[in-house]
Amino acid sequence: MIPYGKQDINQEDVDAVIEVLKSDFITQGPHVPEFEQSMTDYTSAAYAVAANSATSALHIACLALGVGKGDKVWTSPITFVASANCALYCGADVDFVDIDPTTYNMSPESLEEKLIKANLNGTLPKLVIPVHLCGQSCEMARIKALSDQYGFKIIEDASHAVGGKYKDEPIGNCKYSDITIFSFHPVKIITTAEGGMAMTNDAGLAQKMMLFRSHGITRDPALMTEESHGPWYYQQIELGYNYRLTDIQAALGTSQMKRIDEFIKIRNELADRYDDLLANQRLSIPKQHCDSYSARHLYVINLHDTKNHKTVFEKMRTSGIGVNLHYIPVHLQPYYKKRGFNEGDFPVSENYYSRAISLPLYTRLTLAEQDQVINALLDALK
Ligand SMILES: *Cc1c(COP(=O)(O)O)cnc(C)c1O
Repeated sequence: MIPYGKQDINQEDVDAVIEVLKSDFITQGPHVPEFEQSMTDYTSAAYAVAANSATSALHIACLALGVGKGDKVWTSPITFVASANCALYCGADVDFVDIDPTTYNMSPESLEEKLIKANLNGTLPKLVIPVHLCGQSCEMARIKALSDQYGFKIIEDASHAVGGKYKDEPIGNCKYSDITIFSFHPVKIITTAEGGMAMTNDAGLAQKMMLFRSHGITRDPALMTEESHGPWYYQQIELGYNYRLTDIQAALGTSQMKRIDEFIKIRNELADRYDDLLANQRLSIPKQHCDSYSARHLYVINLHDTKNHKTVFEKMRTSGIGVNLHYIPVHLQPYYKKRGFNEGDFPVSENYYSRAISLPLYTRLTLAEQDQVINALLDALK
């Protein structure tokens, strides 16, 4: 089976991990700060807070922004459930903003319409979480302008998008957001097996996320509320979690970052080749916004004909092509339906869901394998 995504681990990565295993610290040593430094260097954001997953990073990001009971958080229906769940962890209410029919990212027009209504009803969101689907940035300048007008915070869920650019600047620089989140799951752009990172330019938010990442405990006298009892002393000043990344994983992350631009280049070349070879078929290839240089995490086609969607998918799986579907609209998940969402609530997202198929895309996909994918697809479309 040709999978839809796969990690790219070389000997240098393996050696970096083994070196940590033989060292004094396999967690809470020097490698996590080093990995964080490599991400601030790369994105030019001021602070990076590593976590043991993007899901954890989304959670501590929401907590740092003060999201809590009674608050409203909006995200896209076409995302992994974690983009919405992080708000529920904090006791907030989740709602969705429909997608743009060409980029499949949160539509700034739909967002504005929904904000105008919410403003009249007194139900404005505290936080909006745009998701850079497939690695392509949302239209952040427009979303940021709306945040200035309506007073909501922004977390970019850039789980797909590390290495991508928006308006010629790295995604993750937080120019248009309070916090940006990356994921390092093996199917994503770089990997630490499990792992995530929160980027921000705000020292206060970074400090809070570091507290929430590690039990709400501090050893910094400046943050303490009482006199130190002695050299052993630490204080718990918040209710936090153990969301720490290990040094073993961080060493892998730092090593992977050395090849990030190469990874993005190969992904873009493969995506461009799909574009060429799939032009003039009964399907839409992924449209790129002119402000975007996508990290190309996913290559999603949309079939013109919804009737054969499932059969094309099944035929490709039978031919050994590990196609996938990103994503089932979150509001149609049973857990969210129980919270009051229904079919028909976000029609553009639901229409996308009835046509979308993710084709294999990863750095080690060979041209021969890509040809195999295309042949299987054209066969299935017949
Ligand atoms: C993968 C992913 C996450 C969660 O990432 P983990 O590191 O697996 O927790 C969140 N949001 C999106 C959009 C993702 O694709």
